[in-house]
Amino acid sequence: MNSVLAARGLVKTYGDVHALAGVDIDIKAGDVLAVVGPSGSGKTTLLHVLSGILRADSGDVFLDGRAIGELNETGRSELRRTAFGFVFQSGMLVAELTAEENAALPMLLAGRSREESLGAARLWLARLGLQTLEKRRPAELSGGQAQRVAIARALAHRPRVIFADEPTGALDTRTGQEMMSALLQAAEETNAAVVIVTHDKAIADRALRVVEIQDGRIAPKVIEEAVSA
Ligand code: ADP
Ligand code: MG
Repeated sequence: MNSVLAARGLVKTYGDVHALAGVDIDIKAGDVLAVVGPSGSGKTTLLHVLSGILRADSGDVFLDGRAIGELNETGRSELRRTAFGFVFQSGMLVAELTAEENAALPMLLAGRSREESLGAARLWLARLGLQTLEKRRPAELSGGQAQRVAIARALAHRPRVIFADEPTGALDTRTGQEMMSALLQAAEETNAAVVIVTHDKAIADRALRVVEIQDGRIAPKVIEEAVSA
């Protein structure tokens, strides 16, 4: 089966720190991959290279078989707006915009009409249980609600892959689990793959696969669960 996203031989160094020291990875549609590992092991760097935010020093990332390292910054930025969705630790919503405008932002930036973008945003906000909060600004939302807006924003343009870096890191255990349920359900509905960096074992346990990063490499003892029974 073909991978949606594949990485081959990814290396990224900062001075003498090998943030990534040769990483191969394959992600298929509908996959849910948790990336775990100690602080400083290279998890965020991996997410940023996989999503085209950062360029690898060597190796490459392939989206549907196409090398993204060959794209220039404009091409990669276009890719981030269309093929990928992002959920960060603390939402990173734009304070001046309403929930629906925040969720619509990637589509607006990609040049879609305001009507289409807000329509898709409202649909996802409703699916995530936020239909009465569309006009609120981030300061008027709880942490869990803000993360749901971030999920709506990551999903509204129907990306192939959703990247989440410690998305439950600022939430209490229960809200974090609820957020994870919402993310997994939304991803399943669109058949998007999810790559989630987490420190939380209870969150990683909900992924289909777990890879552990140590010193910029995938740890030899990969904790992998069968994707299907
Ligand atoms: P993690 O997300 O697992 O905590 P990171 O990917 O953020 O780890 O970092 C991996 C290593 O690369 C760490 O040693 C970190 O200090 C280093 N690093 C990450 N980004 C930079 C940068 N922009 N400049 C210098 N060093 C960096
Ligand atoms: Mg990190």
